[in-house]
Amino acid sequence: MAGTIGAYAKDNFFGAWQGHFAFDGTELMDWASRLQSFYGDFFDQRPASFGVFARTNRLNPGSGIGLTDSFAFTFGDKTPIGDLESLLAHEMVHAFINSLDNSMDAAGGLSMSWFGEGLAVYYQRTLPYRAGLISRQAFLDDLNETAARYYTNALIGTPNDRIAEGFWKDTRVRVLPYDRGSLYFATVDSEIRRASGGQRSLDDLVRRMLAERRAGHPMNLALWRDLLRSELGEKGLTEFDGMLAGKTVSVPSNAFGPCFERVTKQLRRFDLGFDPLVLVSADRRVAGLKPGSTAAAAGLQNGDRILNRFPQDALQGNQSATLTLEIERSGQQIALTYLPRGEEVPAFQWQDKSCQSNVK
Ligand SMILES: [Zn+2]
Repeated sequence: MAGTIGAYAKDNFFGAWQGHFAFDGTELMDWASRLQSFYGDFFDQRPASFGVFARTNRLNPGSGIGLTDSFAFTFGDKTPIGDLESLLAHEMVHAFINSLDNSMDAAGGLSMSWFGEGLAVYYQRTLPYRAGLISRQAFLDDLNETAARYYTNALIGTPNDRIAEGFWKDTRVRVLPYDRGSLYFATVDSEIRRASGGQRSLDDLVRRMLAERRAGHPMNLALWRDLLRSELGEKGLTEFDGMLAGKTVSVPSNAFGPCFERVTKQLRRFDLGFDPLVLVSADRRVAGLKPGSTAAAAGLQNGDRILNRFPQDALQGNQSATLTLEIERSGQQIALTYLPRGEEVPAFQWQDKSCQSNVK
């Protein structure tokens, strides 16, 4: 449990970690401290001190939890630095933007998570890219993973008020506030830029909301709707309500600036090949096996008992990641590996577009 303890401190930022990274831990902490300072300027809010705590976890590396002016995350001895930068960029946004006030469901505020998680995903790539802390390619990779997972999601039309009940049961519901929220905010950003002739953007609305909260006023849904109406009129509110109702968010081609363009690719839906509720059931016996699925082709059968546990959210976002199920059948243990993917559907993706650097 103990082992080596690493430590880092610079200005108001500190880091402490247990175990060994696959790279120099100081490099990651230095990156995080520069991003933290960029965030402080961007959100116009600087905590007296901010810290991160990390420890190894072989079963669930790359997960994080927010604490007051700090957060804790897990890593494995092979977790690449890029994965942890992305995690840090996300969790550090939450130090500024977590949830709206007066959220109706106290149980995690899941019905309001489109706001906090949508903005965290939107800014986790946008701000490090602007700060020069990630490459163009890393920005595109992050965006395209979100877009691929969203546009191939078989449950894309799940209304926001059904998110809470499905959140812990199905990864396809769980990722929606993140994916849909972030693409919705990208759309709002491009619409505000267009409507204001480039004078304002989503950033101004977010900073205004944070300023209201600092001034002791509520940062709630009513405030968001007011700001949206003043920038985009009734059309903005109709679009917002449509997003909450489950209407597919159609992000404009130039939403990420003139140097990126939208293309449509054929990508495959995430599909376990059996009823996902099996994974959260007590005995975890396969049911609802789909004939013709990759799971059936790999030899999985109804009644097989699934022994291993595995995180699904990242798996769902990776078109080429395989899944290994350790199962028990008639007293024997068997391992089956397959690509958990089903039908191909069109999905928006973004790519580099040759553009002059002086074009704004
Ligand atoms: Zn988050």
